[in-house]
Amino acid sequence: MGGIFGVVSQGDCTMDLYFGIDYHSHLGTKNGGMAVFTEKGFDRSIHGLENSQFRSKFENAAARMHGHVGIGCISDSEPQPLIIRSKLGHFAITTVGRINNLKELVKELLEKQGANFLEMSGGEINPTEVVATLINQKNSISEGIRYAQTRIDGSMSLLVANEKGIYCGRDLVGRTPIIIAQKDDGSLCASFESHAYLNLGYRTIRELGPGEVVFLSQKGVESKIPPYHKKRVCSFLWTYYGYPTATYEGVNVEESRYRCGAMMAEADKDKNLELDSVGGIPDSGLAAAIGYANASGVPFKRPFIKYTPTWPRSFMPTQQSVRNLIAHMKLIPVHELIQDKKLLFIDDSIVRGTQLRETVDFLYRSGAKEVHVRPACPPIMYGCKYINFSRSTSDMDLIARRMIVKLEGGVPSEERLALYTDTSTQEYKNMVEEIRKEMHFTSLQFPSLDMLVKSIGIPECELCTYCWNGKE
Ligand code: SF4
Repeated sequence: MGGIFGVVSQGDCTMDLYFGIDYHSHLGTKNGGMAVFTEKGFDRSIHGLENSQFRSKFENAAARMHGHVGIGCISDSEPQPLIIRSKLGHFAITTVGRINNLKELVKELLEKQGANFLEMSGGEINPTEVVATLINQKNSISEGIRYAQTRIDGSMSLLVANEKGIYCGRDLVGRTPIIIAQKDDGSLCASFESHAYLNLGYRTIRELGPGEVVFLSQKGVESKIPPYHKKRVCSFLWTYYGYPTATYEGVNVEESRYRCGAMMAEADKDKNLELDSVGGIPDSGLAAAIGYANASGVPFKRPFIKYTPTWPRSFMPTQQSVRNLIAHMKLIPVHELIQDKKLLFIDDSIVRGTQLRETVDFLYRSGAKEVHVRPACPPIMYGCKYINFSRSTSDMDLIARRMIVKLEGGVPSEERLALYTDTSTQEYKNMVEEIRKEMHFTSLQFPSLDMLVKSIGIPECELCTYCWNGKE
């Protein structure tokens, strides 16, 4: 994933930019960057974030940079923002999204347009540079943004800053958000996360619509391209990677997770589970666990507690073995809450299942009598092909897919696969039972997609649910 943030201030934008980007740190761990238009042109700084947090890495840059326009990002992939000189002038660009047809676009731009690209280590081309080159094919930045978005297979939200202000473009179907907010003195910001500017004194004006492009300047917000009607907001914003304090499309993440937990409690109410406690796998499972506990009357407890003084972040390094090690090291068990207890845990989702199985095995070794698991979303069937969402990689890594292959004796046809996404079929029930056995849970129940959509509270036709049902 990743997050983007930009400021056009009446005075110096740098400290607002610095803190605003930092409040996107839960969205990525690979690179951070900020660029401010100063008296001498753009001043830009980029650092890797795998071993250190944004604030500590950018302290010096923030003290050095001064100007009234700035943009930046937390990126799980390429280094950004990039500074570009072109026929459209001098601009900085930062993006969030995914380009599935990157190779084809690069080939076309090299052959037909005579473009050239800097090569990153490993021979890769920086996708944000390709977006900038597509923008430069047109006669204005707004037209260029629209052209780039229509040529990209995937999704692309972006900020483009010049000396006057910031062009903000939300991806064509609004999978990722861009929110505009303002301070009393007229300063404006554009943000992926709605909580990122609250402590800086900004108040939300509005969220951009799908495909909408606006220009922020010291004079205000100027509409450049109106929104499209088709909307497919990523449901995982509420399920997993949105921060609990964030609100998208008017729906707060924490509240939607309470609703999801309450619906799962309702689905369990006749099962006589006689639970001692309900807990959430920190951090993204906690809110749904609170919702379950409040609705069921079973006490909410924390048999695992995250060691926050040194493991404060919810995202993990990109290398799977390091992720597993960190997941294990950062959670400390409370034996008094585990020994001889019947526990129910809520996790945000089950992707590969590796970490959760290790956690559950550890609970049994620590004396738990029963471990019931309720993931807060349906089984994930398809890896994300729209945004760089690092949780779901290849389809065959997904535990649901692996169990289906086991049950079917091979890779199923699309028609057979569809049977496993329908909660009323025997195939679906068999798959859930296979996952339960594989993961050593006492019981396992997923919410239906309908429950998930209801907990978010937005019509299903406005949500992307591809991960669960493969619908584009
Ligand atoms: S496929 Fe999944 S992760 Fe990707 S945009 Fe859709 S809901 Fe979000």
